[in-house]
Amino acid sequence: MKALVIGCGIGGPAIAMALREVGVDAEIFEAYGASADGVGAFLNVASNGLDALRALDAHREVLRAGIPTPDLVMWSGTGKRLGAVSNGLALDDGTVSHTILRADLHRIVRDEAVRRGITISYGRRMVSFEDTGDRVTARFEDGGEATGDLLIAADGVHSRTRRLLDPTAPEPRYAGLYSGGGIVRDQDFTGEPGVYHLVFGKRAFFGYTVAESGETWWFANLPRELGDVPADWRPVLAEAFEPDANFSADLVRRAELGPMLPIHDLPPLPTWHRGRVLLTGDAAHATSPSSGQGASLAIEDAVVLARCLRDAGDHRAAFRLFESERRDRVERVVAYARTISNSKAAGPVARVFRDALMPYFLKRSASQESLAWMYRHQVSL
Ligand SMILES: Cc1cc2nc3c(=O)[nH]c(=O)nc-3n(C[C@H](O)[C@H](O)[C@H](O)COP(=O)(O)OP(=O)(O)OC[C@H]3O[C@@H](n4cnc5c(N)ncnc54)[C@H](O)[C@@H]3O)c2cc1C
Repeated sequence: MKALVIGCGIGGPAIAMALREVGVDAEIFEAYGASADGVGAFLNVASNGLDALRALDAHREVLRAGIPTPDLVMWSGTGKRLGAVSNGLALDDGTVSHTILRADLHRIVRDEAVRRGITISYGRRMVSFEDTGDRVTARFEDGGEATGDLLIAADGVHSRTRRLLDPTAPEPRYAGLYSGGGIVRDQDFTGEPGVYHLVFGKRAFFGYTVAESGETWWFANLPRELGDVPADWRPVLAEAFEPDANFSADLVRRAELGPMLPIHDLPPLPTWHRGRVLLTGDAAHATSPSSGQGASLAIEDAVVLARCLRDAGDHRAAFRLFESERRDRVERVVAYARTISNSKAAGPVARVFRDALMPYFLKRSASQESLAWMYRHQVSL
């Protein structure tokens, strides 16, 4: 059996590696070139995502390149410490969530897929597919095509496959926030390693952590109308953080800045698969980054899909089983992240309530058992 995997982001290589484990050949087709830049962009690989990578025996490099970030400390924009919670639950062997540059995570999973003999074709944007019942053919912008037994979409939140599969599928929803990050390389700024500080500022949300190298990695979520893009984000961000009683504005001024991107998530989709075609990762269930789970869910999908293909009688049964195992979980994460994103874009009145009530909620969830469903979830082949 051969699968065409569309998209070589985080999920695509994980899918190809997982399919190999169960004897399904996979080739990856990526719209862009092989470079994985993205200055300042980093993400949280939650403990459940690391566990899913471990199921593929592909976790070691990620642990090496990332920084352990087991703790979150929340602050109000007025400088009040609202409380602390864990950034996910530790696995049985003590592994905790890691923060990693997105470019590093991307490079590591791609390189590992290539090392295992998987072919990745770059510059191949899929524009359409045809499912003839016994085979499926993907057509590319360059005029070429490829045929296989399955087409697995890992083409991200703005998935072309999703639109082709179901033209009535809901569109991604703008979460009301632009998000981006930066790195401050001066070593004179210090902080406790392993702690993510999150600041519910007056006008915008700020998060930062200090890497062992002494670099400070930060991100900002700025409430803003979609399409309202300034020529230069730095003064806009610096002004947004100016009223806050911490050093966010200073870090913004001193950083090497990455791009600011609008945040989207996806409402529940009526259709995840049809015939020989299946949606996975952000294409099926994009969550706003507030959950810190998008990459982890895409990797979990890979493991579960491979097991379903191995255990179910045929691809139809496998896709049905995949959806039944994944849908409730991923939709719960999307809903959870949406609540958090809304609190970041709170108006003045909601902000007062948020800052007053948050210490109570944080205390209640300090054990994190209330989030065990998210972080303790385990997938296996
Ligand atoms: C600002 C921001 C912060 C985030 N922070 C976190 C975080 O802290 N933790 C976390 O877990 N997640 C985070 N995420 C989400 C995470 O990056 C995604 O959930 C994850 O990358 C999803 O993987 P994917 O493979 O489904 O899609 P992607 O990684 O987006 O990959 C999709 C790939 O498909 C390619 N593609 C698209 N269309 C086509 C086509 N027609 N033909 C061929 N190829 C195509 C794209 O070029 C891309 O390479 C964040 C996202 C953003 C935007």
